[in-house]
Parts: sequence; C-alpha cells; structure tokens
Amino acid sequence: MNRSKHTKRYERRGRMVSPQTFFAALRAGEPIQGVWLNSRRYHVFCESGATCVECGLEGLYFARERSPGQKGKFHFNLYGIQNGTEVLFTRDHIQPLSKGGSNKLENQQTMCAFCNQRKGNKTPESSQVVKAPS
Ligand SMILES: [Zn+2]
Repeated sequence: MNRSKHTKRYERRGRMVSPQTFFAALRAGEPIQGVWLNSRRYHVFCESGATCVECGLEGLYFARERSPGQKGKFHFNLYGIQNGTEVLFTRDHIQPLSKGGSNKLENQQTMCAFCNQRKGNKTPESSQVVKAPS
C-alpha cells in the first residue's frame, strides 16, 4: 500500500484505528492515543458514515498524523485504499458555504478527496460527477 503524494508528507505516528473503534471512542467522549476527538469533521464521518457518498469507496482506517515541521497537535485522518494507494477522506458541504450553505452537520457528508475535488463548488443540482473507472 502506497501513501498518496498529497498526504505522505504528514508525520504519522501510532497504530491505525478502525472506524468502528474510532466512532465508539467519539461517542464515549474518550481520547485515542492521547488525541482528544474534538473536531467536527469526526462527527461528520460518524453521522454520514465512513464511506464516500459519491463513489462508494470505503474508509478503512484512521491514521494519527500532523503536518511536517510543526509542533502542532496530532489529529486523525480517515483513509481508504484505491488501486493500492491511500485516498484521504474529507467532509463535503452538500450546499457549499460559498453559496449560503450552513456549517451544520446536516449539511455535511463524507466524501473522498478525489470526488470532493471533482465536485468543487457545485451544488447537488449542478453537479455532474464523473465516476472513476473501476
Ligand atoms: Zn469518492
């Protein structure tokens, strides 16, 4: 399994965490590997599911990471694997913030980085998502 070129610069520490274990800790309000799960992004993944709403790619594990050269805190990123390479999962605003969409959980859904990039700023009505070849 290869790390994607966009995220392999992240400093990664600790064991991978399954979505099941991650969401259980999130619901219980407990930290994992010393990281408090206080990002709204985690709740989007938990509520919307660890699967890309567009292409159906499954998020397989959370990795404990932080940006390089920073003394910042570690956080968790969700990854799936496509063609042997990691794919980062992101949260998508169904109605984009730039078009008046809200930041509430109901307006957010789980999407892989590829689909999110493809969708860009389009609204659900105007979005013509091209499916990746399988
Ligand atoms: Zn996708």
